[in-house]
Amino acid sequence: MSEQFDKVKYIKNCEDKLKDQFERIDEVAFFNQTKVCEAFAANCIAARHFSGTTGYGYGDDGRDCLGKVFAQAFGAEDGIVSPHILSGTHALTVALFGLLRPGDALFCVSGLPYDTIRGVIYGEGNGSLKDFGINFKCVDLINGKFDFTTIKEGLPKAKVVYIQRSRGYELRDAFSVDEIGEVCRFVRENGFNGCIFVDNCYGEFAEKREPTEVGADIIVGSLIKNPGGGLAQTGGYICGKADYIDMIGKRLTAPSIGTEVGSHALGYQYYYQGFFLAPHVVAQALKCSLLIGEAMAGLGYKNYPPVNAVPHDITRAIQFDSAEKMVHFICEVQYASPVDSFVTCEPWDMPGYDDKIIMAAGTFVSGASIELSADGPVKPPYIAYFQGGLTYEHGKYALMKILDKIV
Ligand SMILES: *Cc1c(COP(=O)(O)O)cnc(C)c1O
Repeated sequence: MSEQFDKVKYIKNCEDKLKDQFERIDEVAFFNQTKVCEAFAANCIAARHFSGTTGYGYGDDGRDCLGKVFAQAFGAEDGIVSPHILSGTHALTVALFGLLRPGDALFCVSGLPYDTIRGVIYGEGNGSLKDFGINFKCVDLINGKFDFTTIKEGLPKAKVVYIQRSRGYELRDAFSVDEIGEVCRFVRENGFNGCIFVDNCYGEFAEKREPTEVGADIIVGSLIKNPGGGLAQTGGYICGKADYIDMIGKRLTAPSIGTEVGSHALGYQYYYQGFFLAPHVVAQALKCSLLIGEAMAGLGYKNYPPVNAVPHDITRAIQFDSAEKMVHFICEVQYASPVDSFVTCEPWDMPGYDDKIIMAAGTFVSGASIELSADGPVKPPYIAYFQGGLTYEHGKYALMKILDKIV
């Protein structure tokens, strides 16, 4: 078969089928670019905001305005954006510890949270929320959708309602912002007056609105994913209601200090510039995801979300019928990377995960999954999670290599 198979023609054919999707993505990107530019203008961003500060960092305008720019673009009152937040997991941890007190309950309505958050919530003797007397309840999804009846029953005890937008290592679709809005409305109508909290990882700029524009109080994410635009070298953000941001800021630093302290000698240019690029970069990643999805589906590989459906985040789950095929796919993504293209991926015990994880991330920023990357636990049903791509052309190049291997 491989001799007759014309990769270039096959890919062109896939692209033709995706024309409407790509047009829609361009329109979303333009809409979000407008939001970001308006947020820059409203905050009078100037070269001085890029400068670093040292020591306590009192009066660090670069730091403060960065939070304001993110908050405005996300339709939130206030925001913390910081290179001192180490990752998405750390951002979520700081936010949860900032909001919850002993005796409170955290109520997750979107199924079990992402792997690395589980130990934060109910780890034993590791300083988890549970160790501090914070209770946890979780409502499973029904066929990937919210179970409103069970959610209603759990609300009276809850202090924070937790929603995870993206799929994590689960075989479900990401929630649309509309769906998140619906669950926000539902919990309010049923008397919930605590904090609605969204793990927004991988969702930023995939749609025209963010969860904070449809009723969520707090959104949290990583800067080496969507909103860093591929330029941010580390960091996380937390945006939302000003009162909650104040509580969280006091946990990020110290209760007596809050967010008026914190310096970053290297300055903030890449954080601003990355956020400026983010709507476009997310569009590139969405197109890479759809192209890979269409091409793999055409060859008989089941993948999610369906290529004819509007994607609500940048990730794609691709199912293989053996560990070997899954590993081959991930290896090809690594071989197509600009950095460490000569490395062969192997499964390993990644910190924070129970299963052995294999990860292709030949990225400029170590582990940045807004760059073309693929990963997953090597166990049945053998699902590789593919995401990122700073340029559409890179995704296409990777697909050429994947087709060489699997056809
Ligand atoms: C990536 C991710 C996180 C946090 O991950 P880090 O690797 O710690 O940045 C949390 N939740 C979801 C859904 C994610 O995709």
